[in-house]
Parts: sequence; structure tokens; C-alpha cells
Amino acid sequence: MSGKVLVITTGGTIAMLHDAAGGGAAPARNGNELVDGVRGLERVCPLEVHEFANLPSPAMTPRHMYDLAALVRRRLEEEAIAGVVITHGTDTLEETAYFLDLTVDSPKPVCLTAAMHAEDELGPDGPRNLMSAVRVAASPQARGMGALVVMNDQLHAAREAAKTHAANVATFQSPWWGPIGTVDDDRIIFRRAPLHRQTLWPSRLERRADLIKIVTGDDGSLIDFALSHGTDGLVIESFGRGNVPPTVMPALRRAIDRGVIIVNATRTGGRVLDVYAYDGGMVQQRRLGVIMGGELSAAKARLKLLLALNLTPAGERPQRDAVARWFDTD
Ligand code: ASP
Repeated sequence: MSGKVLVITTGGTIAMLHDAAGGGAAPARNGNELVDGVRGLERVCPLEVHEFANLPSPAMTPRHMYDLAALVRRRLEEEAIAGVVITHGTDTLEETAYFLDLTVDSPKPVCLTAAMHAEDELGPDGPRNLMSAVRVAASPQARGMGALVVMNDQLHAAREAAKTHAANVATFQSPWWGPIGTVDDDRIIFRRAPLHRQTLWPSRLERRADLIKIVTGDDGSLIDFALSHGTDGLVIESFGRGNVPPTVMPALRRAIDRGVIIVNATRTGGRVLDVYAYDGGMVQQRRLGVIMGGELSAAKARLKLLLALNLTPAGERPQRDAVARWFDTD
């Protein structure tokens, strides 16, 4: 192993302790305290700590993610840095991981890690996860793998990783695909590599992308609400192959007529596809101009839409086809 690992701390349970006054876990440990709390970490490789924030991850915004990506991109250009570890809350970790996967094109490892149990709970998992993440970030095998989620001795590709349980330490899974590798003590073992990675790096984030979950009996009124709030792009979370109730179609038509870019992501695993021709089916939606979001979760599709919309220069209207080329590519 050569070079140092930059540990960027952003907050989350991994940096929390029980706060008696507040009656629950709350941000407590700063970046250095977090790293110093892991016995033997300094023996893995040289470390540098950068405290980016100390936020519970529901407070992370795309603006934070963008600033974090800019920091990671800049620091990874330094020859002395072998890789980056980012500590984060588990709640939105998969979003920040995917955002970084899309925006950092360096081959150096970018590893996100976290904890389900705080340091002062029984069985804290943060120290072990942080140790594993530093080992992965320092390892040559992890180069070119994009952003990785390192949790519970497993390695997950950012595009596939999802928090699947509110409390269990095995919460991070890659549904339908599985982890791409494992950390076995000090060995980093990969069994497959992410394919078809994409990089989108807009010079600013000013356009807005929203997400609406479609439900049974939906009349499309939330889509109209989003239009009235000046959204530039909208992800709709649909059923199955991308289908929505017929009563949603008029609102989709109104949105597209107004130039709003719509991406369809399914609430199931698997791919959105134009196989159903009935009213509300994906065939009709595609004819309207709705973009098929592939296998991305709705939250991840929304981040990709946000980045794609912002690639269009200020003052110009984003074009549907220019945005569509980033979706459903593999
Ligand atoms: N449950 C969260 C965590 O594991 C809280 C957060 O996401 O910040 O860190």
C-alpha cells in the first residue's frame, strides 16, 4: 500500500452519542475523535482527516453532495492520496454514494461507510466498518470500481447499494445483484466489477428535480403541484414495468407540454420497459416523451436527472433527448 487515505467525515450515527438532554442519539464526535477511536487504524496507512460536516444524513442535500464531490475530485488529483473514505449517516448514504459515483471520474477508490449502532450502544459497528473502509481505500484492487459502500464486511457498488432495514447491521444490500466483494480481515476480495459507469459534472447546480411517488387512485395532482412550483424535471416512481394509473396521464401530458423532463423509475427491482400498451402503460408514456429510468431507484434517478439537467448551460432549456441519453443505457 502506498500513499495516504483521506478520511472525510460528514456525520451520521457513526459520529453520534446518546444525548441525555435530547433523549436520543445526536451528533457528538468530530472527525479526529472518530478516527482516533478506532484502535490500530493508524497502522493501516497514513491518514489525513477532513471534517466536512457533522450532519445526520437526512439533512444532506444535493448541494452538500456537490460540494463534497468537488472536494473529492480536487483532493484525488494529489499524487500523495491513494483513496478517500467518507463517513456518513446510513439513511441517505446510498444517495451520496451514487452522486459521487456519477461525479468523480478518478480511478482512485472512494469508499463510503457508516454505523447502525453508535459508539456507546452495545455492539458498535462503526469502528470495524471504518477500519474496513480505510483498508479498501488504500488497496490497489479497489481502483476503478467507482464509489463503494463498505459496510458489514461487504463491498457494494454505489449504483446498486440500498439501505434495506431500519436497524439491522446487515442493512446494506445490492438487491438482485449482490455485493461485488468482501473484506476478510485485511484482505480485500472482489468477485465482480461495476460496468458502464458514467460521469456527469455540471459546472453548477441550479435547476431543480423533484420526485413523486405514484399511488393507487392517483389523480396526478401532485405532478401539477410540482409544475406550479417551477420544477425543471420530475422523477415519477411507478409500478412494475413503469405503469401508472390512467388518471395520471393527463398531468404527465401537461408537464411534458410545459417542457418539464420526466423520468420514470419503478418501485420494484428490475427495469422499466415499454411492454404494456394500455392507458397508463409505459408504451403510451414513452410516446408522450417520458424517459425510462432503467433499473435505478427513484431517489438515485432523481439525482442523475438533477445532474443531467444542470449540464445544459444557464439560460438554455434542457432538451429531453440530451437528458434521455444518460438513462436506460445498460
Ligand atoms: N440512522 C442514521 C445513521 O445510521 C442516521 C443518519 O443517517 O444520519 O447514521
